[in-house]
Amino acid sequence: MKLPETIAGFQTAYRQKELTPREAVEGVLKRIEAVEPKVQALLWSDPQRLREAARQLEQGGGPTSATPLWGVPLLIKDNICVEGVPTTCASKILAGFKAPYDATVVARLKRAGALLVGMANMDEFAFGSSCEFSAVKPTRNPWDLQRVPGGSSGGSAAAVAARMIPGALGSDTGGSIRQPAAFCGVAGLKPTYGRVSRYGLVAFASSLDQIGPLTREVGDNARLLQVIAGQDPSDATSSDAPVPDYVKGMGRGIQGLRIGIPKEFFSEGLEAEVRTAVERAVEELKKAGAAVQPVCLPHTEYAIPTYYVLAPAEASSNLARFDGVRYGPRAAADSMEAMYLKSREAGFGPEAKRRIILGTFVLSSGYYDAYYGQALKARTLIKRDFDENWERVDALAVPTTPTAAFRLGEKLDDPLTMYLSDILTISVNLAGVPALSVPCGFTGKGLPIGLQLIAAPFAEETLFRIGGAYQERTDWHQKAAPCGN
Ligand code: GLN
Repeated sequence: MKLPETIAGFQTAYRQKELTPREAVEGVLKRIEAVEPKVQALLWSDPQRLREAARQLEQGGGPTSATPLWGVPLLIKDNICVEGVPTTCASKILAGFKAPYDATVVARLKRAGALLVGMANMDEFAFGSSCEFSAVKPTRNPWDLQRVPGGSSGGSAAAVAARMIPGALGSDTGGSIRQPAAFCGVAGLKPTYGRVSRYGLVAFASSLDQIGPLTREVGDNARLLQVIAGQDPSDATSSDAPVPDYVKGMGRGIQGLRIGIPKEFFSEGLEAEVRTAVERAVEELKKAGAAVQPVCLPHTEYAIPTYYVLAPAEASSNLARFDGVRYGPRAAADSMEAMYLKSREAGFGPEAKRRIILGTFVLSSGYYDAYYGQALKARTLIKRDFDENWERVDALAVPTTPTAAFRLGEKLDDPLTMYLSDILTISVNLAGVPALSVPCGFTGKGLPIGLQLIAAPFAEETLFRIGGAYQERTDWHQKAAPCGN
């Protein structure tokens, strides 16, 4: 039988006994063999281990209500710990490191019966928007192999777009799930801060990081969030807000939902084709019954400078633990200090070093108030902009990115233009609200475009409802990436 392309498809095939986990694994491995040499999305996978996991799953009996992801093959971003598996954040400084425990999300996926196929490529420590800062290799966009898949969760997005697997986990600090989802034509969710446990996620900027799903369909995204969401005693920032039935909520349609369009997200830098596709998508939402109105987010212009003070500040302290002693390769040196310096010099790539220097600078005494203190105040204003809208509207609709996927190498020597590719995703992290990117069209060159839906804290259900209604009326998400063929 042909391998299902969605999580729902796997669930049906297992329920109807048309497929076994062992057959699924063979199918996935075959697909990986066919497309991975071109796409380069994986950092690690172990076919024997995977076959063994499938065999054990079959021995344990069939799917039950406690195992909603029974036999569903998934990929994990390389900054999320999987016990006994190399978890390296695509960095040389973690070369050879095997995680001693499962991240909470991984434990939940395993408990739900999922088959973990491997680890996905990313920008080193999730710093980047193109996957080119991976210390191992750049991943390529399945729609055009000369272009980037986006980042930092580029391997996760590309693998889903290339139909290697129906779903993957990514992490999003400033856009790292939504931007690659848009570039690769898949659905990607950055959940509300606190919706998903960060325990076992290698920290980038702890006040912004969230783990979330990438899938081909909105319904599958809801299915994955359902399993990974919820309070975790190991992460004090995880929320005890109840987890609703996301898939069930999707059936309700969007008649009467109020959707706001903030003009600040449609300014000059926006490519005409992206603007047109998003405007058409909004028209489609109107036809589905939504009431659309203009809204204001006046502090949007401060999002990039605010983020590029706060995120590097947090990153510089989070990365202090990688010193050649506790993890990864250690450089030979005469003194302890020289050993630290040499290990860090050899272990970190250029973007990681840039972030550490930037972060250390804004936190240094004499500059702390001028940069870090001011950025915290600006963050409050940005968050307040969003808060003030939730009385008037249920969600916002904007583009995910100002352009479609760019060429490999195009922005590599210019950090500022690379940073600007997150201009439409970053304020969502600063405000802590959830946002979903769904495919909404293609450019003339055949590159996917993403529509970004944003909602109030813990209103992921609303995002799935709108994304689901949009998907019912369009078929962008069903198009298959050529992967160089
Ligand atoms: N591209 C942004 C950055 O480089 C966001 C990355 C992310 O969300 N992890 O910081």
